[in-house]
Amino acid sequence: MLRGIARRTMTDIRQKQLINSYEAVKSEVMAYAESKGKSDVFLLPVSKLKPASDVQLLYDHGVRSFGENYVQELIHKASVLPQDIRWHFIGGLQTNKCKDLAKIPNLYAVETIDSLKKAVKLNEARAKFQPTAGKILCNVQINTSDEAQKAGLFSDNDILEVVQFFLSPEATHVELGGLMTIGSWDVSHAESEENRDFAVLAHWKQVLDAKFSLNLKLSMGMSSDFKQAINQGTSQVRIGTDIFGARPSKAEMRA
Ligand SMILES: *Cc1c(COP(=O)(O)O)cnc(C)c1O
Repeated sequence: MLRGIARRTMTDIRQKQLINSYEAVKSEVMAYAESKGKSDVFLLPVSKLKPASDVQLLYDHGVRSFGENYVQELIHKASVLPQDIRWHFIGGLQTNKCKDLAKIPNLYAVETIDSLKKAVKLNEARAKFQPTAGKILCNVQINTSDEAQKAGLFSDNDILEVVQFFLSPEATHVELGGLMTIGSWDVSHAESEENRDFAVLAHWKQVLDAKFSLNLKLSMGMSSDFKQAINQGTSQVRIGTDIFGARPSKAEMRA
């Protein structure tokens, strides 16, 4: 009895906390976007390393889209949480995990396509395992900071090749939504108005939109740099820490 009450109180506290921070971030994003004359910036809450119960609390508040970074964690959450959640995979993608991802019926987007091979695999696996679940919306991830350890494409040829695949008749179960990048830590903490990495991504949008008559969306900006991203024309910001609080470190997760 006591334990039940204690648990309910914990849940109530967490629910208030999460809804408050979600609403605060949402207001900040919307107010800033409006002040810059940008009308539609989508806020994607990033729930990686946070419990499914946190996602459920925001779902109960009306939120339907969430970003996740780890395939196993996403498979688990997708299996226990409501089926109308639109999951965005935003983590480092491995070719051999494309199949597992494509099997998740309510996988809505994969934002980290960084090779032709992965785009082809994802399409094939979706066609085979979830043929009627709807096309997966894909973003091509571009390495805008030229840091060797960062994921993403940076050669012109590679980028064009992947985009052309998405526009070809072969791409029956995937669809190109836009471009994504992760700004370098240094640049995002430089307090400057203009983020060099975001400028590179915006430039790629211009080039590709013109070349292929597209209107690509941009996914850039996280807790530390979302204002720069909005200023530089993003369509979506991906925010984890400011909504869910600090994440446990990898070491803590293993313990
Ligand atoms: C973790 C992560 C985020 C959220 O980062 P925060 O700094 O916690 O807001 C956004 N995008 C990607 C690709 C991430 O891996």
